[in-house]
Amino acid sequence: MIKTKFDSYCLNGFAEGCKYCVKGEKLVLFMTGKCKRDCWYCSLSKKRKNEKSILANEKKCKTIKEVIQEVKDSQATSVGITGGDPLLCLNKTIKLNKTGRRGVVKVGNKFRASIGINNKQKHLGYFKNIEDADKVYQKEYEKQF
Ligand code: SF4
Repeated sequence: MIKTKFDSYCLNGFAEGCKYCVKGEKLVLFMTGKCKRDCWYCSLSKKRKNEKSILANEKKCKTIKEVIQEVKDSQATSVGITGGDPLLCLNKTIKLNKTGRRGVVKVGNKFRASIGINNKQKHLGYFKNIEDADKVYQKEYEKQF
């Protein structure tokens, strides 16, 4: 276990998602406060427990357009979906998830494609547009899985 420069500890290196988080590039997308469980370790506050709204970086959003606007405003390159239990509003979660591209992040004015294989990230290249990056990701995904 090593101590990071971000006041935390990690095993086996930084998880890919954490890299975006510490750089402030990750949008936190709170889908719902609803959850049927009552885990002792739950960090969901009482105030949020039955929240019905979608919160993108704490901003209440009624439409996908508003979520996308927050992505643009915050210049997020990745999204972490959280709750409550996002699976309790599955259709909404899937709809929002389809607005992004798996394995593709914006880096400067290019799009980087990468894929996780056996807990390691394989870099697939930088592309001028998101569609090309997505195609390469999809091709590699088909090959690997
Ligand atoms: S939100 Fe997650 S941690 Fe909290 S009670 Fe539900 S399942 Fe458990």
